[in-house]
Amino acid sequence: MTQPGTIEFHETDIPEPGERQVQIKIKKIGVCGSDIHVNHGTHPYTSFPVVQGHEVSAEVTKLGTGVTEYSEGDRVTVQPQVVCGRCFPCRNGMYHVCEDLKVMGFQTTGMASDYFVVDADWLTRLPEGITYDEGAMVEPLAVAVHAVRRIRDLEGKNVLVIGGGPIGNLVAQTAKAFGAEKVVVSELSKVRLEMAEEVGLHTINSKEEDLDAGINRHFGDRKADVIFECVGSSYTVAQAIEKARKGSTVVVVGVVSALTEVNMGFVQDHELTVMGSAMYQSSDFDGAVKLITEKKVQLFPLITDHVDFEAYADAYTLIEDEKDRVMKVIIDME
Ligand SMILES: [Zn+2]
Ligand SMILES: [Zn+2]
Repeated sequence: MTQPGTIEFHETDIPEPGERQVQIKIKKIGVCGSDIHVNHGTHPYTSFPVVQGHEVSAEVTKLGTGVTEYSEGDRVTVQPQVVCGRCFPCRNGMYHVCEDLKVMGFQTTGMASDYFVVDADWLTRLPEGITYDEGAMVEPLAVAVHAVRRIRDLEGKNVLVIGGGPIGNLVAQTAKAFGAEKVVVSELSKVRLEMAEEVGLHTINSKEEDLDAGINRHFGDRKADVIFECVGSSYTVAQAIEKARKGSTVVVVGVVSALTEVNMGFVQDHELTVMGSAMYQSSDFDGAVKLITEKKVQLFPLITDHVDFEAYADAYTLIEDEKDRVMKVIIDME
């Protein structure tokens, strides 16, 4: 992408893997909300030109020296983070929030190319039985796993997820898989509500039903023990806090770009716990793969469209023109 909305294709040399690196052939690429911001030039931390692509599945095609844990032909996905390894978070088990974090496709070269070279340590193996389409969704599912793991124990909890887009849907499915008693998705779009119901979630159509009434209908007086905000708008962040029951927890998963006013007096008086969730670690990728393998989440209903690599820009046109219908667009490399 040379500038917002303009994609060019170029022939390049096939990259060779160095020490502890692996050359992979990209099979599928998922397009997500952050990519759309880049396409519009509204992503705050991305400059142009940029090669996109951070949700991928791939096949190992060549091993650099010192790589013994992979073989040619292995099926993998990539954790698209580039971290400094020196800052306080990196040195203390929190590299996913590295002070100098770079994400492929945003601040460093993404994987929208036939071949790519990556450090072996950032690969996650895709077991037999996981398709390349599902493999491209491990990254967004890892976002969900990380968010849900922010709550130590979801067993028996009432969970409200605000937003039924791909991340909201995956967070809700993951919360259920992690033992939540009842998981309800609140969403405006009819199609996204139907999709949530299709994968076994309860719903509140917040266009037609008052959110308080919906919360009471599903949870009674106890309301939600945990609210995951998965939209990232000022409105829904404020809403997540205002609808919280005393003593409950709000997790902000959506990427909030606007400075947001929230009622901190309410947070104090209701003794709320408000926390953020950002990115993931390799253990979250492993958790995501496990959920898929054990069939505890359904990914196929979320994949609404496929676009050929050469028609990459069409993915954005589709998302633009059919906002309501399109959930996840997968780019097919071959
Ligand atoms: Zn993404
Ligand atoms: Zn760091």
